[in-house]
Amino acid sequence: MTTVTTVAMPLITKDRPSVQAGLESAIQRYVASNPRSAEVYAAASQHLPAGNTRTTIFTDPFPLAIKSASGSQITSVDDRAYTDLLGEYTAGIYGHSHPSIVAAVTEGLRHGINFGATSPFEAELAALIKQRFACAGLELVRFTNSGTEANLMAVTTARAFTGRSTILVFNNGYHGAVQSWRNPSASAPTNIPGDYIMAPYNDPSAVESILASIPPDSLAGVLVEPMQGAGGSFPASPDFLRFLRAKTEKLGALLIFDEVMTSRLHYSGGLSGKYGIRPDLITMGKYLGGGMSFGLFGGRRDVLSLYNPKCGGHVSADNHKYGPNAPKTLAHSGTFNNNIVTMCAGIAGAKLLNQQVLDAINDLGDSLRQSLSTLFASRGITQPPSPAGLTDPDINHVSRGAIWISGIGSIMTVHFGVNDELHDLRDLYWFYLLENGFYIARRGFITLAMTSTKKEIDSFVKVTENFLDEWSHAIQA
Ligand code: PMP
Repeated sequence: MTTVTTVAMPLITKDRPSVQAGLESAIQRYVASNPRSAEVYAAASQHLPAGNTRTTIFTDPFPLAIKSASGSQITSVDDRAYTDLLGEYTAGIYGHSHPSIVAAVTEGLRHGINFGATSPFEAELAALIKQRFACAGLELVRFTNSGTEANLMAVTTARAFTGRSTILVFNNGYHGAVQSWRNPSASAPTNIPGDYIMAPYNDPSAVESILASIPPDSLAGVLVEPMQGAGGSFPASPDFLRFLRAKTEKLGALLIFDEVMTSRLHYSGGLSGKYGIRPDLITMGKYLGGGMSFGLFGGRRDVLSLYNPKCGGHVSADNHKYGPNAPKTLAHSGTFNNNIVTMCAGIAGAKLLNQQVLDAINDLGDSLRQSLSTLFASRGITQPPSPAGLTDPDINHVSRGAIWISGIGSIMTVHFGVNDELHDLRDLYWFYLLENGFYIARRGFITLAMTSTKKEIDSFVKVTENFLDEWSHAIQA
């Protein structure tokens, strides 16, 4: 089965000039209502490019500056409160300032800030994470400070373990600041150099032919998100992931699942666990650090043993522990890898997230997608969702139109244009949501948290309905 993630015949809005005029006046209202945010931006711009140190959260003409947050609410320096449906791009699953996490961090700090030494906390966090992800093949784990670092370490580990160099990645994939293939025509100029090859996502026959064009013993690993997050909440079909599992096994390469975002979509083992597919290595991060800086890579014991100075590295039947051919132990350092604040926050977070809690967040997400899809269908913008459509992770079964929604559970993206080409309409929606007290990513990305409620979701759907009413003349059904 060949599947693609773009659709021919992009839609245009019916009344583009009116959308552009509407956007211009929405921006004027935004500037007028957020003078303190504008001041923060102007001051910050003297020291940081565009007043910013995180490209994802930069928005034109200037971002909202937030001064405080609690539960599901964030408040700007202009004293405007918003219901947060962005959830810190999946890291904020506990809601803001959860009392258990605040207490754990405060208690942790009583012991000290950083020891420059091992503490009991890292083993406790590792054990809690393994308890959830052992079924995804997490036998040993190493901590990092971010998902970006975790993926760098994972591909480096695959290269070291196999003695090969090529990593297969996918169009539109995102694995952190320096391994991004969001632009399908080229690797980002900020990417690290290296031997990467790229294939279309969800397309086994394309992968077959690309792999057939390289020497069979050159592939070190395949790095894939089970659902592309930053790329627009595009799920991989489980069949595609199974195909990658079989193919990597056959070629002696490592399969790396980047579950930095998706690990929260299923209690036991993330999407790896949900689909019953064991990668060789898995990367995670975000909320698993309890809201502090965090990442991890882990997986097969024999692979992770490369980082064990006691056994001299890679242990396998034909490679005796201390034999002359044993690879040297690899080093993986990081001043803050085991920092006390993250360890304590992560432990508290892991204790908060049981199966029931995660299921509830993901069910709420399913019901939000259901409501929005039904709304779009009722306006003739998309086809009605089939009951299976909501739980069917194949992106090609999702109905697209001028406005449509994709995702799994509590992670989703509202799209504008069948191929995300209606940027004006998307921006207009974003400013409309802000004016009505909802905060999501400008690119339409939404994630829910423990603190998200049915009431909030219903009122978000109502605001979206009002938007459709107001702009129906401009939205092509
Ligand atoms: N991988 C994926 C799938 C991600 O979504 C992200 C972050 N959005 C990263 C890696 C990078 O994580 P971090 O921002 O913690 O470096």
